[in-house]
Amino acid sequence: MKITAIELFHISIPFAKPYKLSRVYGTRYDAEAVIFKVHTDEGIVGLGEADPLNPFTEETPATVMVVTRDHIAPQLIGRNPTHIAAIESNLDVMVHGNLLARGAVNMALFDIAGKANDVAAHMLLGGLNQSNLQLLSPIGSGTPEEDAASIQQQIEDGYQTVMIKMGALPIVNEIQRMIAAQEKFAGQIKIIVDANQGWTVAETLEFLDGIGRNRPDLLEQPINRHDLSGLKRIHRRAACLLSADEGVASTQEATALIRAQAVDAFSIKVSKNGGLSNARKIAATADAFGLKILMNSMLEFGITQAASLQLGCVLPNLLDMGHAYMSVLRMSDDITDFNQNISHATVTVPTSAGLGVRVNEAKLKKYTKDYLKID
Ligand SMILES: [Mg+2]
Repeated sequence: MKITAIELFHISIPFAKPYKLSRVYGTRYDAEAVIFKVHTDEGIVGLGEADPLNPFTEETPATVMVVTRDHIAPQLIGRNPTHIAAIESNLDVMVHGNLLARGAVNMALFDIAGKANDVAAHMLLGGLNQSNLQLLSPIGSGTPEEDAASIQQQIEDGYQTVMIKMGALPIVNEIQRMIAAQEKFAGQIKIIVDANQGWTVAETLEFLDGIGRNRPDLLEQPINRHDLSGLKRIHRRAACLLSADEGVASTQEATALIRAQAVDAFSIKVSKNGGLSNARKIAATADAFGLKILMNSMLEFGITQAASLQLGCVLPNLLDMGHAYMSVLRMSDDITDFNQNISHATVTVPTSAGLGVRVNEAKLKKYTKDYLKID
């Protein structure tokens, strides 16, 4: 089997409601992605997705398309797509960085390899450890009253974990939000706080002092992604699990964080981490050093979510809390059928061949704003 062509679709779909993030990222109205179709001479088509969100990621939809056209595709056309390890090794040499473009290609290769052998991608990744995962539900930045209404709704909908976004408000308000949430809901639901790099080290320590015993179950990326020593200082004082997200894209960043003993957990996102091969390597390295994994998501659609689910259901070292497989529920629409795997705040891994997700061609056409074919 040989790769014959790659099609790229830059799509843009509005959120169901605007999404308020930290002061670094502001409020978002649309999610953008680049959908990949990798064609083969046997008629099998592999699906991939890149989910750029500058400044979270270095890449943008435009750079994903150009780098794929000029640097990645020439290494792929004519190659056997099932030789995934060989292709990855070659791309490691020929393409520096660009993990999101690389990730979309890697997802498509696993989709093709699964379809060619009539097995689900999780069989290629080591076989299932669990077939269902609890979902977490994200809560945007708001007042303690808005948080309480949202959390109450999530509990009624069956969620056992919420991720509260912080980092946009003065630290004194964030302390009030945390105390109010734990005083009302402790024992009923697990709380992850994600500050998306919105705080300084001093603000993070002020937050931890201010909340007293009302700790979150997990604190994610409070400070700048490059500040390892700052993260280490926070880690010593946190008295709750601490995770890296923006700070762990490459395997090199993962090993540096492990060496510094700066965190307890990594947020894995298969698009951010360069696809299933790299994400699995990071998760396995973390496991060897006793770190846990949160399967997290960008603002992404069903292909990346499906790839992430194939990996999440294989890993033995997931955090005992909800994981981020609700991304398509935040969108006004999706170009795939991924949401059929979600029911009662639980996601079930599909057993069909490859990534187990299908594209709705009419919707893909409707939401495509830029298109490129490389052959
Ligand atoms: Mg995060």
